[in-house]
Amino acid sequence: MSRRQKKMLIRIIIAAVLLISLNFIPVDGWLRFVLYMAAYLVIGYDILIKAGKGIKNRQIFDESFLMAIATIGAIGLAIYDKSGDYTEAIAVMLFYQIGEWFQSYAVGKSRRNISELMDIRPDYANLVRDGAIERVDPDEVEIGGTIVVNPGEKVPIDGVIIEGTSSLNTSALTGESLPRDAKAGDEIISGCINMSGVLKIKTTKEFGESTVSKILDLVENASSRKSRSENFISKFARVYTPAVCAGAVLLAVVPPIVRLFAIGIQADWEIWIYRALTFLVASCPCALVISIPLSFFAGIGGASKEGVLVKGSNYLETLSQTKIVVFDKTGTLTRGVFEVNGIHHSQMENEKLLEYAALAESASSHPISRSLQRAYGKEIDRDRVDDIHEISGNGVMARVDGVQIAVGNDKLMTLLGIEYIPCHSVGTIIHIAIDGKYAGHIVISDIVKPQSKEAVAALKNAGIQKTVMLTGDTASVAEKVAGELGIDLVYSQLLPVDKVEKVEELIRSKTDKAKLAFVGDGINDAPVLSRADIGIAMGAMGSDAAIEAADVVLMDDDPMKISKAIKISKKCLGIVYQNIVFAIGIKLICLLLVAMGLAGMWLAIFADVGVMIIAVLNAIRALFVKKI
Ligand code: ADP
Ligand code: MG
Repeated sequence: MSRRQKKMLIRIIIAAVLLISLNFIPVDGWLRFVLYMAAYLVIGYDILIKAGKGIKNRQIFDESFLMAIATIGAIGLAIYDKSGDYTEAIAVMLFYQIGEWFQSYAVGKSRRNISELMDIRPDYANLVRDGAIERVDPDEVEIGGTIVVNPGEKVPIDGVIIEGTSSLNTSALTGESLPRDAKAGDEIISGCINMSGVLKIKTTKEFGESTVSKILDLVENASSRKSRSENFISKFARVYTPAVCAGAVLLAVVPPIVRLFAIGIQADWEIWIYRALTFLVASCPCALVISIPLSFFAGIGGASKEGVLVKGSNYLETLSQTKIVVFDKTGTLTRGVFEVNGIHHSQMENEKLLEYAALAESASSHPISRSLQRAYGKEIDRDRVDDIHEISGNGVMARVDGVQIAVGNDKLMTLLGIEYIPCHSVGTIIHIAIDGKYAGHIVISDIVKPQSKEAVAALKNAGIQKTVMLTGDTASVAEKVAGELGIDLVYSQLLPVDKVEKVEELIRSKTDKAKLAFVGDGINDAPVLSRADIGIAMGAMGSDAAIEAADVVLMDDDPMKISKAIKISKKCLGIVYQNIVFAIGIKLICLLLVAMGLAGMWLAIFADVGVMIIAVLNAIRALFVKKI
């Protein structure tokens, strides 16, 4: 509990005790008035000040204004009819403050909860400097520095393991509860917890660029991107409050006048003014104003706990309306780790051809290039390679040992005017040309991620109408993968620009309400990620550009998380709509009862606080998404 919350609680208790004891003390006249006003001011002075400030700043139609007018009006009526019944005004203030207190407590608690869930911020790094280990601020470690992570510590900065083996707990990042093994040579991302062995790590990024900082940034900034529902609520509140104020004035004035002049009976001014004041109390829109942003906040927090980073409430909303999911193939549905299946028509020793290919590919981060380098297996001497050009979706060209090498698909060969020998094996065919002459091809193949098939089926269960795969690979490979996974539509041999065009075509062919999501790893598909209604990037293997361009990031590259993200968003939006309907519904009923004289101020305030508490509790439900 914060200091402000404690102070408020003390005020609530004092006011409650005063109010109850005053009911047993038989005082009358001005002494009674002074004593009751003391209790009123103890509990309500800040609301009165706020209302006063609002009037001064010409922003009068807020909750404080409603409460101040209603309670001062009630006191005025009590003085006017000499009943001395001030209890009601004080009680209204008291319950309003109890509601506010509960709300600030619940919001504070859920915020704390989320940052605890996201407890990945490292406090220090053990830097190796001149042979000694020093504990420093992670910010101070430069790229290429060596750090030591002991068992039980958080990995502070992204890097590569240079010494040691261990298992890592990545649950805070990915939601995955099984530990992951790590050994020398492996890449390691910040935010995981080292469980068993001591690890020596060479850093590859600065702290500010490391995974952990990026995630924290994302989550902290997520609530600044507002969803349509949230915007609706703030617009609603802007017209709502003036409207109920006008309603209250009409309620106070019209019926008595009608009675007096049209029907010719007693005006009963007091009764109608009292009803109008009650109407104001009952109208307070705080349940909505609080619970909607809180629901989104909880939804985003719950998703991040499951390894799904959503960059804003607007994206959570779009995600819940997704009807078409478009996949990139390599690295998204497949592992992006290619095995060499064969080397055909080589004009030299197979080993030599692979060497040329691997060297030419030495600067590319494409999964194909990484796989060729791995298949080659030997250290790559970058001094032998220069003049490297990568042609996105085609391949690469480079000079190796002074000769011109082209490595890529048949489109690249056609582009260069080199006659190539087509291959009949199913697989991704990588042709190689040396100094403009064909030198043979390497057949490589990727394997489908073990979860992909289930992931596509799970999407259908989550209400997705159409799944589509886009790839730059050959038709034979594309058809095979799509058939295996049960994907509805396939487009192959696409360049990155063709992918954007296809996505635009798909967007045009659907209704505006059904949203299209694109899932990619971001290696040359960042433009598509930003063009789709919602871009989902594979975070662990994906490039930084993808994570930047995407709206949703899956921390562990698991395609099952796509349907999970959609289900989480649906749950969250469901809660949002429940709260909107519930809060507005009860409000309307209360206002009606009050206007008809069937409910007094007590009921009005109880309904108000009660609805708020229920709505806030409902909002917090969005945090719990483990079992979805
Ligand atoms: P995908 O759509 O499956 O992710 P890409 O658009 O990244 O595929 O690549 C499409 C095709 O372009 C690959 O199947 C390959 O034939 C060729 N290609 C792209 N980059 C390279 C590279 N670095 N080396 C060789 N071939 C490449
Ligand atoms: Mg790709």
